[in-house]
Amino acid sequence: MRLSRLFTKTSKSAPADAETANAKYLIQGGFVHQEMAGVYSWLPLGLRVLHKVENIIREEMDKLGAQEIRMSALQPKESWEITGRWNSMDVLFKVPSQTNKEYALGPTHEEIVTPLVGLFIHSYKDLPVAVYQIQSKFRDELRAKSGVMRGREFGMKDLYSFHATQGDLENFYGKVMDVYIKLFHRCGIDTKVVEASGGPFTKKLSHEFQVVSDAGEDVIVICPKCEVAQNSEMFDPGAVKKNCPTCGSAYEYKKGIEIGNIFDLGSKFADAFKVQLMDEAGERQTILMGCYGIGTTRLVGSIVEVSHDERGIIWPKSVAPYAVHLVTLKSKDAEIQDRIDEESEDLYDTLIKEGVEVLWDDRDASPGEKLADADLIGCPLRILISEKTLKEDSVEWKFRGEKEMRLVNLRDVIEESRSI
Ligand code: ATP
Ligand code: MG
Repeated sequence: MRLSRLFTKTSKSAPADAETANAKYLIQGGFVHQEMAGVYSWLPLGLRVLHKVENIIREEMDKLGAQEIRMSALQPKESWEITGRWNSMDVLFKVPSQTNKEYALGPTHEEIVTPLVGLFIHSYKDLPVAVYQIQSKFRDELRAKSGVMRGREFGMKDLYSFHATQGDLENFYGKVMDVYIKLFHRCGIDTKVVEASGGPFTKKLSHEFQVVSDAGEDVIVICPKCEVAQNSEMFDPGAVKKNCPTCGSAYEYKKGIEIGNIFDLGSKFADAFKVQLMDEAGERQTILMGCYGIGTTRLVGSIVEVSHDERGIIWPKSVAPYAVHLVTLKSKDAEIQDRIDEESEDLYDTLIKEGVEVLWDDRDASPGEKLADADLIGCPLRILISEKTLKEDSVEWKFRGEKEMRLVNLRDVIEESRSI
C-alpha cells in the first residue's frame, strides 16, 4: 500500500481526552475513528490488525474442533425473558420497533445459541459440540472510556460448548485454557490466568485472562513465586491477604486488563430453554454448557498498551498492519531523485512479489514527518532509501523495537527480508 493513496492521515496531536496509549496512538495513527463515546469505526490500518488478531483466534478455534457460525445481533425479547435477563441485565440495549415490538441488541449470545444448538441435539451421541463466532457486541456501558478498551459496541469472539457430562466439560474447559494462553502469545501478549468468582454462576469454574498493564481497570493479586493470580474483586476488602498461602511469598498487586473470560455455565441456560438429550439408558438428561469469550477489539488495545514507546506503537509482527514500512527520502538533485524513485519502486514491487506486506511512504513529505509517521504507525521493520544510502548501493535497515540501524546492500535486501 502506498501511503500517498491511503485515504486516512496521521494527526500530529492526540485527542484531548485520550488518557491511554491505545486511545492516543490508535486515533493519531489513523487506525480507528471515534464516532462517539465507546463507539469506533475501524479504518484500513486498524482493520488489518483486527483481522490478523481474529484470524489467529479463528485458526486456534478451528484446531480445537469448534465450528464457526454467525448469530444475529438483533435478538428476540422473548428469549431474554425466558432467562430473566431482559430485566436483570443493566447493560442490555433494548431496541424498539415501529411494530410495537422490542428487541435486544446482543451483548452476549447464550439466549440465541442455546435454543439454536438445542434444535440439532437429541442424543448423547450428538455431543460434544462447540460453536464460536467473531462479531460485534453491544453493551450500554456506563463507563465507556476513550480508547477501545471499554466500548458500547465492541468485537468479541464467543465460543460455546455443549456436553453430556461434567467430566467432558471440564476436559474441554482445560483445553480452551491452554489454547487461550497460546493464542494470546501468538498475538504478542503474556497473560495471567486468574481465578474468577464466576459472577452469577458461583461455585462454578471461571477464569479470567489478564494482561498486566497500568491501563487496566482490575487489580490482580499475583504470587511472584507460584505464578498464581487472583482478581482482587473477590477478596473481602477487610481481609486483604498479604502473603501467598502456598509458599508464603509476599503478594504483588498489579493492574490488569481482562482480555478473556471463560465459564462453566452448568445447566442454567439449557434448563431455561428446556434443551435436553437422551442418555445411554434412554433417559432424558440435562445438557451442560461452557462459554468462553475474548474481547477482540480490547485485545488490539491491550497490544498497544504493552507494546509502545513515546513515539508510537511497536506492533508484534504477527499482528502488524504491514511487516515493512518503506521510506523514500527525496533528493534535490533530479538525477539522484530518478534513481531513488526507480530503486524504491523496484524494491516495493519485488518485496510484494516475495509475499512481504509493505507500506510505502512515497509521499512528498519532509524526512521528519516520514520518520515520525513510521514510528507512530509502528510496523516492525523500517527500510529507508535516500541519496545517502544509495551512495553505498544500500538501504537503511531498522527494526521498530531496536535502536540500532544498519546498511543492507540492495543486492541482499530480498534475501534479508525472508528472515523478517
Ligand atoms: P468487564 O468485566 O471488563 O466489564 P465482562 O466480564 O463483562 O467484562 P465478558 O462478558 O466476560 O465481559 O466478555 C468477554 C470479553 O469481552 C471480556 O473478557 C473482555 O475482553 C471483552 N469485553 C467485555 N466488555 C467489553 C467492552 N465493553 N468493551 C470491549 N471489550 C469488552
Ligand atoms: Mg468477564
